[in-house]
Amino acid sequence: MKVLVVGGAGYIGAHMCKLLAESGFELVVCDDLSTGHRAALRWGRFIQASIGDAAALDSLFVRERPRAVMHFAACSLVGESVRDPLKYWRNNVGNTLTLMEAMRRHGVARFVFSSTAAIFGEPRAASIDEDHPTQPLNPYGRTKLAIEQVLRDACAAYDLRAVALRYFNAAGADPSGLIGESHEPETHLIPRLLRRAAGESLDVCIFGSDYPTTDGTCVRDYIHVNDLADAHLRALQQLEREEGFQCYNLGNGRGYTVREVITAVEDVVGGALNIPVGPRREGDPAALVASSKKATELLGWRPLRPAIRDIIESAWRWHREPRF
Ligand code: UDP
Repeated sequence: MKVLVVGGAGYIGAHMCKLLAESGFELVVCDDLSTGHRAALRWGRFIQASIGDAAALDSLFVRERPRAVMHFAACSLVGESVRDPLKYWRNNVGNTLTLMEAMRRHGVARFVFSSTAAIFGEPRAASIDEDHPTQPLNPYGRTKLAIEQVLRDACAAYDLRAVALRYFNAAGADPSGLIGESHEPETHLIPRLLRRAAGESLDVCIFGSDYPTTDGTCVRDYIHVNDLADAHLRALQQLEREEGFQCYNLGNGRGYTVREVITAVEDVVGGALNIPVGPRREGDPAALVASSKKATELLGWRPLRPAIRDIIESAWRWHREPRF
């Protein structure tokens, strides 16, 4: 089967491309390289195009004839989405509609969509399952939720099968050392700590220590990027068996506080980082932990690298010698 990976030059998309290639899929990658990396493109044929470009998509679909699409191309900075919401609605929603219209024109009826825990907003339960209410707190989360709603409607109306995968905190890197996380600017906790440990002059602080958690810092559910890629593969296979729209929450089901992450990073890099406490970051819920029971039961998915130390070690291998 040939799969079109949109956003395959990005962090999670590149890990997906590697797994698809290793699992015997044919793949074609489409990316506009606005945030992705050319050096991450090691698997499949590459076409540089924006998914907002309907003509480019038409020629891609005619030439390549993919049978399924995996869509990783999105703007994903919460703060930026608050400052420039139109950029997020245009890119994450408008351009995804253009992509879905092209799929429909060319009879491509399988879609795996990258969604996010940000669609849930302030959590109302200790662990978040698929029935949890969706009340995103920022434009980024609202654009992802909007596409989930579009997918639900489109699957009901057309010959389309789609899965939305809601990632909790993606982290880690492939053990090959060929690909890893490289955002500019980097806003995520683990890569910021590791870049600082690798010698970059990054000002890192703990965003608030007065949350109602065990040590006052926020709790998040970190999930290895290769475990996320594995879930996509299973979701793609499930589309062959099941009609309509499906959604799954993807995490380890175990949360770590910011302080626990810092301690684990210090342990892995072998030195104190002396991270000070700063003010809260706006829009951060105290705790976000997934229930991935549904993915376990229906996709047979079980994270293979759940330990925070292993996740950080894999990321550290990358950050010591990043290739891009
Ligand atoms: N965080 C922090 N300092 C940083 C970056 C993040 O204390 O420099 C905290 C942030 O408030 C959150 C957790 O680390 O509680 C994970 O944040 P990240 O940005 O990695 O992912 P998010 O949960 O926002 O998707």
